[in-house]
Amino acid sequence: MTTLTGGVLAVVETGKSGEPTVHSIEMLGAARALAVGLGRELAITTVAQADSQPWPALAGRGAQRIYEVRFQGDAAVTGDGLTEATWLAVQAARPAAVLFSDSGAARVVAARIAARMECEIVSGCSLLKAREGIVQLGRSCLSGKGFAQLKWNLASPLVLTVAGGAFSSSAPTAAAEGIPEVVVLAASAPPAPPGLTVLSEVSPTPEVMALTDADVLVAGGAGVGGAEGFGLLVELARKLGGTVAASRVAVDRGWMPSARQVGVTGKSVSPRLYMAFGISGAPQHIAGIRSAGKVVAVNCDPRAPIFEVADLAVVADLHELIPALIERLPARGAQPNAGGS
Ligand SMILES: Cc1cc2nc3c(=O)[nH]c(=O)nc-3n(C[C@H](O)[C@H](O)[C@H](O)COP(=O)(O)OP(=O)(O)OC[C@H]3O[C@@H](n4cnc5c(N)ncnc54)[C@H](O)[C@@H]3O)c2cc1C
Repeated sequence: MTTLTGGVLAVVETGKSGEPTVHSIEMLGAARALAVGLGRELAITTVAQADSQPWPALAGRGAQRIYEVRFQGDAAVTGDGLTEATWLAVQAARPAAVLFSDSGAARVVAARIAARMECEIVSGCSLLKAREGIVQLGRSCLSGKGFAQLKWNLASPLVLTVAGGAFSSSAPTAAAEGIPEVVVLAASAPPAPPGLTVLSEVSPTPEVMALTDADVLVAGGAGVGGAEGFGLLVELARKLGGTVAASRVAVDRGWMPSARQVGVTGKSVSPRLYMAFGISGAPQHIAGIRSAGKVVAVNCDPRAPIFEVADLAVVADLHELIPALIERLPARGAQPNAGGS
């Protein structure tokens, strides 16, 4: 059996500002641990936006090399373009493993890269341990009711997407690891399919935005009282540029689809802000928000367990608070009222 000698390549997504996304930084934590466990090199690849230099934000995260892909001209970078950019880096790095975050856009590119590499893909990985040349992988299955474990013996390359909230973020470390080598790769965006013109980029609405892609999650539980109550949560999420999540009780009662459930049998999430309305804070729910940035909990019961993990605890009736919040928050994209509170 021939074993691979390549390293680990982490594909980092950046936001509009050119900064790596929260999910990419978490994925980098997993990629770094995998590279260290295997004793292999870690490389990062990312697409550089016009005039931006992404590598300073990526230095000090354990990578020995950073592939910065730059598109020629100002062509809109579509999924096809991202696939081409990642493929350039894969050909340059010849990695044993390629890691992506599990965001919607990354999943599409990951599948295409796996097809080009003619290798297996494991999506939504939340367990990744390397020991003595064997990698143990795990991901939830059967709608969260089961957990599948797999072993990878490095006999052929592997593409992985890393579940949000499952790994610690890769914090930058002091210069001890040295400054990574930056390799700039020039890419030409593939021509758009005939008859297709990109007119503009539209931000996803709360109704369609994936839980793992959102910076802000507005979550509701049994206290919301019904499906119509979730309409208010959608309105609040829209004002905050986020999307709506739910506890299992809210899902079991049919108020929200199961794809919106957070917790051990739902999704693990890592938004910048998690707002919990009428959620008591059962351990099975809290397990899904351990990687959230700030947690704001609103509950009419001052002894609700959710307050133990909240950065801001608000004892209030959500039916009074949410309309007041919606009224006071400016419309998304609008300037806040100078005289407002
Ligand atoms: C094997 C297993 C797996 C599970 N997996 C999950 C999971 O993945 N995710 C999950 O969420 N749960 C899961 N659960 C269920 C979990 O144990 C809890 O039952 C569930 O999280 C409770 O949901 P809740 O907080 O919405 O409801 P409740 O526990 O009923 O809490 C409702 C809260 O709303 C507050 N409230 C009521 N009215 C108002 C109001 N007007 N204003 C403000 N606050 C109000 C109440 O004070 C209360 O604290 C699982 C359970 C098991 C056994």
